[in-house]
Amino acid sequence: MLDRAARLRQLSEIDRDAIRLAQDPQFPRWLEQITATGGCAHPVHLAGSTTTRDATTGEILRHYDTRNEPGERLLVRCRNRRATVCAPCSRLHAGDTFHLVRAGLIGGKNVPDDVREHPRLFVTLTAPSFGPVHRASTAGKRCRPRRHAAHCSHERPTGCSSVHDPADSLVGQPLCTDCYDYVAHVLWHAHAGQLWDRFTRAVRRRLAVAAGLPQSHFPDHARLSFAKVAEYQKRAAIHVHAVVRLDGPAGPADTPPPWGTADRLTAAVQAAARSVVVRTPYSPAVGEHALRWGGQIDVRPLRARTEDYGLTDDAVAAYVAKYVTKGASETAAGADWRLSSWDDIDAVPASPHVRVLMRTCWRLGGLTELEPLRLRSWAHTFGFRGHILTKSRAYSATYAALRAERAAHEGHDDVPGALTDASWRYLGSGHTPGAALIAAGVAEDIARAREIARGELRAGGGDSERS
Ligand SMILES: [Zn+2]
Ligand SMILES: [Zn+2]
Ligand SMILES: [Zn+2]
Repeated sequence: MLDRAARLRQLSEIDRDAIRLAQDPQFPRWLEQITATGGCAHPVHLAGSTTTRDATTGEILRHYDTRNEPGERLLVRCRNRRATVCAPCSRLHAGDTFHLVRAGLIGGKNVPDDVREHPRLFVTLTAPSFGPVHRASTAGKRCRPRRHAAHCSHERPTGCSSVHDPADSLVGQPLCTDCYDYVAHVLWHAHAGQLWDRFTRAVRRRLAVAAGLPQSHFPDHARLSFAKVAEYQKRAAIHVHAVVRLDGPAGPADTPPPWGTADRLTAAVQAAARSVVVRTPYSPAVGEHALRWGGQIDVRPLRARTEDYGLTDDAVAAYVAKYVTKGASETAAGADWRLSSWDDIDAVPASPHVRVLMRTCWRLGGLTELEPLRLRSWAHTFGFRGHILTKSRAYSATYAALRAERAAHEGHDDVPGALTDASWRYLGSGHTPGAALIAAGVAEDIARAREIARGELRAGGGDSERS
C-alpha cells in the first residue's frame, strides 16, 4: 500500500489540482459559480460589488460583494461564439442566434406573429471565382475532368481527374497558386460589406420600380429587413446566407403593401444580385477591380404554412445558427486572432492557400491607397471586416435584449425605481488545469440534461418546436 503522499505523487497535475479544489471548504460555492457559467471553458474573473438602493429612501435593497466568494472573485461567461474556443458559450450563442433569426421569421421576442405572412426569402449569395480550386466530390464525380490534358503557363495541369473526399486537404486549394487571383479575392472580401449595402439598396430600387413608385417614396410604403450570416467556404471565400423580409413601412408589425408579393421580392433580389458592382479606385499596384457577386445565386421563398412549398422557418433558423458557432479551424476561415506581423502568418495552422491570402492582405495593407481597407488588421480573415451575423434594425430582437431577458430569469435584473451602484475590476481569465476538468464535466452534464429534456419532449409528442 502506498501512503497518501505517494499516491498523490502518482496522480497527474490535473488530478492533484482537482483534488485541491474539491477539498477547499468553499468548493460548493465555487461549483455553483461554474454551473452558473454553464461550464464556460475560459471564464472571466471579476472582483467588485453591486449595491441596489431604493431611489427615494436610500434603503439598501440588495448588496453583492465578491469578498466572500471563493478566491474573492466572481466567474462570468467568456461569451465566445466559437465552438473551438468555448463549447458551452458557443452553444448559448447558437441558441441566441437561432431565436433571433426565428423571431424575425415567425414572431416572438417582441416581433408579432403576423411576420409569418410577410414575404420572406432565404437567399444565398456567393463570391465569384478567383481561379479553379479542387472540389469535393458529390456522387462520385471527378474534380475537374478534362478531355485533353492541358497545362497553364506555369506548367501545371488545368484539370484534375481525382475524386476528392470532403475531408481531403486538397479541397478548396487552387489548381495553380500562380494563376489564382489572390489580389481580387482579398479586395472582394474587403468590399463585401459595401457590395451587400448596394445589393439591399438595389432590391429596394427594383421593388419601387416594379410598383411604379419613385425610389424616394419606397420608405413610405414598405420596409426591407434582413438577417445575414457570412460563412467561409473551403476555398476561403465567404458565402452570405440571408433571410430577407418585406414589411409595411412601420416594420414587422405593419402589413406589407399589396404589391409586395414573394414573387416580386424574388425577382427584385435576383436582378439586384446580378447587377450590383463595386468599382475599386485605381491603384498603381493592383489596378482597378469591378467586384460582383458570384453567378451562383440561390433564392428560396419560406413557406408560411406547412402545406406551402418552400423551406421551413425552423430549418432556416437552425441553419444560420449553426454557422455562427464555427471556429476558424473548422472552416477555411483563417485565424481566430489578429496577426501582428508577417512572421505571425507562418505560425498559423492553416493551408498554403490560406497563408497566401494572409500574405496578400499583409502586402496590400502596406499600400497607401488601400489604407482605408485596413488589410493588415484583417489579414486573419483575408480582408473581410464584417461580423459573422448582421441584422437590419427592424429584423427582430438583439443579442443584448436576449441576454437581458436571461438575466431577468436568473434574478439579476434591475429593480424598477432603484439605483444601482456597481464597481468591478478585471482580475484575469481562464481555469487552472483541475478547474478546467471540472468545468468540462459541468458543461457535459448541462448538455446531456438538455439532450434528455429534448428527447422527452419529442417522446411526449408535445409541440416543443413552438414553445
Ligand atoms: Zn465561455
Ligand atoms: Zn482535384
Ligand atoms: Zn498557372
